[in-house]
Amino acid sequence: MSDAILVVNAGSSSIKFKLYDVVGGALALVFGGAIGGIGGMPTLRVTDGNGDSLTERRFEAAAVPDASAAQHHLAEWLLEHLGGREIVAVGHRVVHGGPDFAEPVRVDDAVLRRLESFIPLAPLHQLSNLDPIRVLRQRRPDLPQVACFDTAFHRGHPELSDRFALPRHLYDEGVRRYGFHGLSYEYVAGRLREVAPEVAGARVVIAHLGSGASLCALREGRSQEATMGFTALDGLPMGTRSGGLDPGVVLHLIEHKGMAPAEVGHMLYHESGLLGLSGLSNDVRALLASDRPEAAMALDFFCRRAAQAVAGCAVTLGGLDALVFTAGIGENAPEIRRRIVAALDWAGLILRNDSDGTGMARLDAPGSRAQVWVIPTDEELMIAKHTMRLLGRTAPGAGA
Ligand code: ADP
Repeated sequence: MSDAILVVNAGSSSIKFKLYDVVGGALALVFGGAIGGIGGMPTLRVTDGNGDSLTERRFEAAAVPDASAAQHHLAEWLLEHLGGREIVAVGHRVVHGGPDFAEPVRVDDAVLRRLESFIPLAPLHQLSNLDPIRVLRQRRPDLPQVACFDTAFHRGHPELSDRFALPRHLYDEGVRRYGFHGLSYEYVAGRLREVAPEVAGARVVIAHLGSGASLCALREGRSQEATMGFTALDGLPMGTRSGGLDPGVVLHLIEHKGMAPAEVGHMLYHESGLLGLSGLSNDVRALLASDRPEAAMALDFFCRRAAQAVAGCAVTLGGLDALVFTAGIGENAPEIRRRIVAALDWAGLILRNDSDGTGMARLDAPGSRAQVWVIPTDEELMIAKHTMRLLGRTAPGAGA
């Protein structure tokens, strides 16, 4: 039997997973996939470590009505495909570590109760993230489980970055700027340290631009400020989320348009952002391909807000030594990168022309006042590394 680590990222309509072999102190991806469309049109798709398809299976809607049925199918599939491996630990993505958790943590009953107390801070996500942890603890109490948080990377923020301009008691009650995408920032900051050690310790802004989007200002590899705040709604406009908004708009919708808070929530999370602005799509690929003026306006809005946020981060940092793009849009949409950097040319940022490749690349032209990079993110690998470290299998930072 060889040892393997399972990484689970359980959401409300999908469960993503990856399995890694533990080879000495390193990690090697065996397979990864997702069971999606839970409660709708469920499918299980898995690819091997080279990205080749291993399984593509559709289920009857009634066969996977909820997350616990999805967990059951996933467990069955995993047991059939372990191939002589033993899962020695499971690492979970957990959206909220509240004000306490600045590091990943091995889960016991007390930790689980504490994490459940953060459900009101991120109702949909936190509940879905914790469900498989609870179920696994009941079935396999001895199997080590590690919770890795989207918020933990930001917990060292100075108080100035953590506060809203609201009455003080709300801060003490947990109404703070937690920041998210922390596992992505931690991974990308680690890669930057490897490829550009001369700037990794300096003033860096990482732009995680995916269907969720945020920016992080880092000094010496540590988060100083993030554009997402109390929830994953704040900051940049996203695929379907509004991003930062005049709070008076929310009051108007409730008080004068008679919308229920849940309706407003649905609108802000699912009908806004690029989709709301364009009325066409939440997908940058579709908007770039469209010749409709609404599509162009939505992309202009996104790029301007992103560039403004980079400038805001640079103020926090007192300058900028490197700008790094990552996640679905950041990694794959050179046109969006070009527009964001073009809006920062007053700050001396200049892109090379040949920024159309995929994968990691340095993109700034000679004479640019800051480096510009694209660095693909890998949140699951970050979780696997943390899990291995908490098992005592490797030194921090070592691994795949
Ligand atoms: P998440 O993991 O948060 O679901 P991703 O980081 O995978 O999101 O980003 C998904 C988004 O990335 C898509 O909605 C799409 O807008 C954008 N995207 C992916 N590929 C491309 C591409 N080739 N060109 C432009 N945008 C892309």
